[in-house]
Amino acid sequence: MLKQEPLYEGKAKRVYRTDDPGKYLIEFKDEATAFDGKKRGVIEGKGKYNNLISSYFFKLLSREGIPTHYLETVSDREMLVQAVTIVPLEVVVRNVVAGSLSRRLGLPEGTALPEPVVEFYYKRDDLGDPMLNCFHIRVLGLASTEEMERMRQLALKINQVLKHHLEAKGILLVDFKLEFGKMPDGQLVLADEISPDTCRFWDLNTRERLDKDRFRRDMGGVAEAYAEIWRRLVGSEEHVD
Ligand code: 5GP
Repeated sequence: MLKQEPLYEGKAKRVYRTDDPGKYLIEFKDEATAFDGKKRGVIEGKGKYNNLISSYFFKLLSREGIPTHYLETVSDREMLVQAVTIVPLEVVVRNVVAGSLSRRLGLPEGTALPEPVVEFYYKRDDLGDPMLNCFHIRVLGLASTEEMERMRQLALKINQVLKHHLEAKGILLVDFKLEFGKMPDGQLVLADEISPDTCRFWDLNTRERLDKDRFRRDMGGVAEAYAEIWRRLVGSEEHVD
């Protein structure tokens, strides 16, 4: 596999073409942004941990029958994936109230939800990623009713698998954001990343935050929190397959 020219550069990742038109290489960066790019910084080692943690979760989810874009972890910062077309939606799943849900519903952060909540947002930085309902999604032509239902089902299954797995490692899965991609045959697969950048992870007992909220809220100890998640997943600092 040969890395070719960059296809796309996002806030936290760079995507490259490869000599195989069906495969892309994703490079995870240490740069961090929040609040639609208004806050910027560098978190030493973030790219490596997000790549390793995402690889770990994609492998776990594949074993549980979830289709993903993941093919191979190429290096500490690089992942080989299927070349999919990203659906411009962010699918958020919540188990516990935090962040924007706390502000929208006036419920205190940390309130357990009686059942998981799934939300769709439009991936549009210029609009501030607005929340969408199924009517908006259909009239914008972003997904069909069947595709929305498939994403909702996959998101809930992913939540079940991750929540259970993380609890055994002393981590509470508060909420997370997923993105889906379409294969050339139209099949929806889980894409993007699953990492402390895209999830809220709290210590199960102390409720200490071990995710990007430490950066968003200027709490310090950001790199240490990402390393701690990786340590809890694999039991050491080492990259194990
Ligand atoms: P909230 O809506 O409370 O801000 O975020 C809910 C969950 O989705 C959090 O775990 C948050 O990290 C994730 N999330 C929502 N939007 C984005 C986004 O644009 N980028 C990233 N990295 N995560 C997001």
